[in-house]
Amino acid sequence: MKNDDLRKRYEAAFMPNYGVPPLALARGEGSRVWDVDGNAYLDLIAGIAVSSLGHGHPALVEAVSAQVAGLAHTSNLFLHEPEVRLAEKLRGLLDADARVFLANSGTEANEAALKLAIKYGKSNGRSYFVATENGFHGRSMGALALTGKDAIREPFGPFALDVRFVPYGDADALKAAVTGECAAVFLEPTQGEAGVVPPPEGYFAAAREICDATGALLVADEIQSAIGRTGTWFVFRHELAGATPDILTLAKGLGGGLPIGACVAFGEHGGIFAKGDHGSTFGGNPVGAAAALAVIGTIERDGLLDHVTAVGERLAAGITATLHPLLKGVRGRGLWRAVVLDGARAGAVEAAAREAGFLVNAVQPDAIRLAPPLILTPEQAGSFTDALPAILDAAAEKED
Ligand SMILES: *Cc1c(COP(=O)(O)O)cnc(C)c1O
Repeated sequence: MKNDDLRKRYEAAFMPNYGVPPLALARGEGSRVWDVDGNAYLDLIAGIAVSSLGHGHPALVEAVSAQVAGLAHTSNLFLHEPEVRLAEKLRGLLDADARVFLANSGTEANEAALKLAIKYGKSNGRSYFVATENGFHGRSMGALALTGKDAIREPFGPFALDVRFVPYGDADALKAAVTGECAAVFLEPTQGEAGVVPPPEGYFAAAREICDATGALLVADEIQSAIGRTGTWFVFRHELAGATPDILTLAKGLGGGLPIGACVAFGEHGGIFAKGDHGSTFGGNPVGAAAALAVIGTIERDGLLDHVTAVGERLAAGITATLHPLLKGVRGRGLWRAVVLDGARAGAVEAAAREAGFLVNAVQPDAIRLAPPLILTPEQAGSFTDALPAILDAAAEKED
């Protein structure tokens, strides 16, 4: 069994920070992947909301292959057309006066946002930040300082930043925490790692008002949620009725599997960094930029936003229609959903789903995250909801 062999070798060669993942994947096609032993799975997690076009999509393969063959890297000493086209494309999708910084990952996009906010704060006497309990912003030291999960933050503290955490979704608590000395509020318009938790209606708009009233910057971390995942380009569009955040961060689904992140600053905030203030050797490299252009172009050309809405509704309806003692409900939008369980049974459900041929993610002890490729077909969504009762039965039999 190659899976067992590779898992043993992985365990010996790698640091234990991820534990040992359950499977070694070998290849993928569309929304399906195969492990090294030849078992097939329907991929309902897409590398954590990353493989937006699924696996081996011709548009992505062609764009990346042509770019890597032509010019793989320039550094920031030289510019290149794919990055210019990508920044212009993002400005077009946002329909706003915005300036872009390209990074390699989510956490780096947030580091750029944080440096913008620090510089903004220094110029007008603002010295602290507000973020949310259970929020997730990344693992590098700045983004980690903003991450509202004690178990992953506290072992690496104290941090050089003054960050105050408020309960997510509580506009009164946010209002009380944000004064004229607050530099920025970091918010996910829907929390991802917390288990796909949308805020109560009006929360994000209230955050916009609170920031307008105090002069704090509103930073929307859409690293997991943007680029079609919920049937819209950006979740803030659902929440802000025409308004925008001051800073927006993107990554996961943007490159469709190639590493790229973006920090976008709106209006005058696009001019906060002066020459020399920030940089990245790999950030915005031509291959990542070509991949992002292919992802965005395919979503547009194939009408994937409407597709995501329709298939996501089918998926949610199928889950809602399932009656099972382990199942409490479903949260989320589009193809970004949490199956909410009665009790801490997510590990067992994830394992039972895998044994039944579906890759899902136990994002919280009581929640299973689904974030499939945006090209998932209605039939594939249906195959999961058809299998769900048997998966839950099998999970009920398992030890935790
Ligand atoms: C994944 C994620 C990050 C961190 O991105 P990495 O690419 O893993 O560094 C930050 N914020 C949110 C909301 C995320 O989901």
